[in-house]
Amino acid sequence: MRLILIGPPGAGKGTQAMRLADSHKIPHLSTGDMLRAAIADETDVGKRAQAIMNAGKLVSDDIVNKIVSDRIDQTDCSGGFILDGYPRTLAQADSVGEMFEQKELSLDAVVELRVDDDALVERITGRFLCANCGEGYHDRYKLPLVAGVCDKCGSTDFKRRPDDIEETVRVRLFTYYKQTSPLIGYYYAKHKLLRVDGMGGIDDVTQEIEKVLDQL
Ligand code: AMP
Repeated sequence: MRLILIGPPGAGKGTQAMRLADSHKIPHLSTGDMLRAAIADETDVGKRAQAIMNAGKLVSDDIVNKIVSDRIDQTDCSGGFILDGYPRTLAQADSVGEMFEQKELSLDAVVELRVDDDALVERITGRFLCANCGEGYHDRYKLPLVAGVCDKCGSTDFKRRPDDIEETVRVRLFTYYKQTSPLIGYYYAKHKLLRVDGMGGIDDVTQEIEKVLDQL
């Protein structure tokens, strides 16, 4: 299965993509994660992306198109994959269409996670993750069962994303509405769009996504 997850920052794309990747045994490809890895590795791409990401703006289409194209050529993607955070502009959507055509791949669906605006800023500014395994937590909604210890791997090291501060989140939301939300109409017109209410609890949203995917 090849899926695209779309929705504003804080809609839960990363969390849901990780769960779907687990249940469908396909890789979760997050361009945000790939770019953060490039920053951590101090690669050329990382150096070019860092300031743009910290400002809440979009990295150039060329950079992300190339990292996605290279990534989906890897053997673990042969049985499908979930794209999270890509495409994010109409130009990227055209590129991914061409990329799939060239590689003779088909897109099964685009899942849109719909969340009220008011919930987004609170969701994002409260989130943090395990620095070791990447498990996600939230100051209000999901604290570790034992304070300061990751439920999943036992690490005591946690981190927050530098772009999860309120000022940057507002820029990211604006960027989403201006540049990414037109993709909803684009995929609707291509009969690929599945809309899911992302306001419920994490398990409820996962169930809802699985339900719409079952109908494909
Ligand atoms: P995310 O982890 O998906 O919230 O992405 C974090 C940041 O990485 C975004 O705010 C952008 O600066 C950059 N980024 C991730 N994916 C893309 C993309 N497809 N196009 C452009 N920039 C991206």
